[in-house]
Amino acid sequence: MEAMTKNLFSYLAKSNVLNQAAKKWGLQFGANKVVGGETFAKAVPLIRQLNKQGLSVTVDHLGEFVSSAEISKERTQECVQTIKRINHEGLDSQISLKLTSLGLDIDHDLITDNLTQIMEAARHYDIFITIDMEDTSRCQATLDIFEELRANFDNLGTVIQSYLYRSEDDVRDLNKHHPNLRLVKGAYKESSKVAYKEKDDVDENLKRLIKTHLLNGNYTAVASHDDVMINYTKQIVKEYKIPSNQFEFQMLYGMRTQTQLELAKEGYKMRVYVPYGDDWYGYFMRRLAERPENISFVLKGMFKH
Ligand SMILES: Cc1cc2nc3c(=O)[nH]c(=O)nc-3n(C[C@H](O)[C@H](O)[C@H](O)COP(=O)(O)OP(=O)(O)OC[C@H]3O[C@@H](n4cnc5c(N)ncnc54)[C@H](O)[C@@H]3O)c2cc1C
Repeated sequence: MEAMTKNLFSYLAKSNVLNQAAKKWGLQFGANKVVGGETFAKAVPLIRQLNKQGLSVTVDHLGEFVSSAEISKERTQECVQTIKRINHEGLDSQISLKLTSLGLDIDHDLITDNLTQIMEAARHYDIFITIDMEDTSRCQATLDIFEELRANFDNLGTVIQSYLYRSEDDVRDLNKHHPNLRLVKGAYKESSKVAYKEKDDVDENLKRLIKTHLLNGNYTAVASHDDVMINYTKQIVKEYKIPSNQFEFQMLYGMRTQTQLELAKEGYKMRVYVPYGDDWYGYFMRRLAERPENISFVLKGMFKH
């Protein structure tokens, strides 16, 4: 039953017709429980509220796989405006972005020009940027762009996925930059040629990556809703006396809200990933596919209408 529900939501996530319709409906059916708003301006009160509760934020303008240079430039400007607005509003927020939304699949000069513009604005306003990691066919290109830009910008980090066999080597190679890395299990469907398929293997690898990166003295964001990973991180930082300003926890907005608040109260840095934008439909469906229990959002949302 659970597999059927997951497949249904994965299928619905890819529907262009529903995606277009969703842009007209506005945030509905409980999507506002996991998406910050249709525009950054609409997400500002939520970010302020999270900050008041002791939670830091990273915002992500939803939308990926841009195939037109013009749209990639518009998205670049949206990002620059968001950086200015974060500064203007005095928000405790970073930015997460996907390189395919800025032209990764189009042209090398385009993506590096776009990202450089964003990084210059981010440096000016002292805002940290994380490049999200997408599917494995884009992993090397993403790491190449990260390394290219990281040479000039300290305020740039990226993501490593523990389901990929290559990730241990990547963490070792990237160590020369002493990068700020977000460590995750990985969200895309990958083949067994490149990725661990067993949950235990993915989990064990995430633990190895967390320990290696922390003991290398690097800033580590552990992005997981899994108590096993959270408790493991707590144990490692205690055992090796890792300072509290060398790591943080991250979770998605709307997921394990109580745990987020508890971690913040315990004194840990807790960052909430808040997606926003009118392209919310696919993101919402993927969250439902990942955890069909979230269907209760939808039902509650429907009964309100
Ligand atoms: C801030 C953030 C950024 C991310 N960035 C990327 C990225 O750039 N690229 C990428 O590929 N992936 C990214 N991911 C997604 C990540 O790779 C995983 O797909 C996703 O987080 C699910 O794995 P998990 O570690 O949270 O726990 P899972 O392995 O999904 O779950 C393990 C256990 O955790 C508990 N749990 C999980 N979710 C919940 C919940 N909602 N409520 C209660 N208990 C729960 C349950 O006990 C569950 O059995 C990101 C995730 C986060 C949180």
